Amino acid sequence: MVSLGCPKALVDSERILTRLRAEGYGISPDYAGADAVIVNTCGFLDSAKAESLEAIGEALRENGRVIVTGCLGAEPDYITGAHPRVLAVTGPHQYEQVLDAVHRAVPPAPDPFIDLLPASGVRLSPRHYSYLKISEGCNHKCKFCIIPDMRGRLVSRPAHAVIREAEKLVESGVRELLVISQDTSAYGVDIKHAEANGHRAHITDLARDLGSLGAWVRLHYVYPYPHVRDLIPLMAEGLVLPYLDIPFQHAHPDTLRRMARPAAAARTLDEIAAWRAICPDIALRSTFIVGYPGETEAEFQTLLDWLGEAQLDRVGCFKYENVAGARSNALPDQLPEEVKQERWDRFMEMAQAISVEQLAAKVGSRQAVIVDDIDEDGVATCRTMADAPEIDGNLFIDEGTEALKVGDIVTVEVDEAGDYDLWGVLV
Ligand code: SF4
Repeated sequence: MVSLGCPKALVDSERILTRLRAEGYGISPDYAGADAVIVNTCGFLDSAKAESLEAIGEALRENGRVIVTGCLGAEPDYITGAHPRVLAVTGPHQYEQVLDAVHRAVPPAPDPFIDLLPASGVRLSPRHYSYLKISEGCNHKCKFCIIPDMRGRLVSRPAHAVIREAEKLVESGVRELLVISQDTSAYGVDIKHAEANGHRAHITDLARDLGSLGAWVRLHYVYPYPHVRDLIPLMAEGLVLPYLDIPFQHAHPDTLRRMARPAAAARTLDEIAAWRAICPDIALRSTFIVGYPGETEAEFQTLLDWLGEAQLDRVGCFKYENVAGARSNALPDQLPEEVKQERWDRFMEMAQAISVEQLAAKVGSRQAVIVDDIDEDGVATCRTMADAPEIDGNLFIDEGTEALKVGDIVTVEVDEAGDYDLWGVLV
């Protein structure tokens, strides 16, 4: 399995592997040992599409028997045009079709080794943390995004099924659950927040139920709707991590309207102030797009001023690029590359300065951290509650880690801060 793209695609890969493992298939760590290769593709940006095509080409060269699935699978002609030798192309979440394609390419053994399947399924993320997908699809129509076309409208999983999966993960040793979806705050809207088996499909109830399982619970892709304020007391109480991954994308109302963003009219600085009043330790992460069609210097300056006031802890920024099929491609006033680059540089310079300041303020404080890795020199790579895996920073412990294990949650005193990372000693 070659798994590309976002954590949502990773969850799809895990589901496919779990099903295949249940049928007795093995997973090969290299091309040479595999009877066939599944490439789970990403089609979010043109650069991701190119990367997907490249991965398919490599799998064809190295192995020759390739099944393609995932977001880019929604455009089969695009794939077969470049790689006519692929065995099958299926779209996102077409698990049954992927399994059918595998059965055709490599017929299953008659005696499936079901007993070898761990109760929690097969996971590609390290054992001590796991992504938990609560819904699929999205009801919005942001102009730069083709995810609703590829993944369809919002479909929420029943709350009791999410909780059951989370319980199994925690029982199998997971210490941190990363809640993902396209729009976490909209969870349950499509099923009218139905209650079944004692669990209601609403993000506030779900967060509370997940928080009772004893693992860290981290919320990703939350939009700034008013009801998000109800989540913050759960963070202040310690039920879910004081962390919000909230993709603002821009701060100027006109840019947001041209993007057709959900909650475009929200007074986000007021909301942030309200969240911090309830939970002063809350860490805010967000992503932004600069150089969107029609973005004037004044609009961009509003974004910079907003960032200066918002003082977000973690920030990612993309230069706008046209994606085949996105409605924003047709917008007037597309900006030249050098303007996008210049704005990106200015934005990141400010974001970095804020990060440096925020991290420097943590020197001398005590933080709970989760251990992700310990290398042969005994250096432990950890994360604080303010850091999600892979996208945020780390806290390193250089000494005295002999008794530590990956997945441990321990307390450290921070003694040094860099641009994006921290260092500390065990207490
Ligand atoms: S909210 Fe907007 S950006 Fe996010 S998946 Fe939906 S349409 Fe795309």
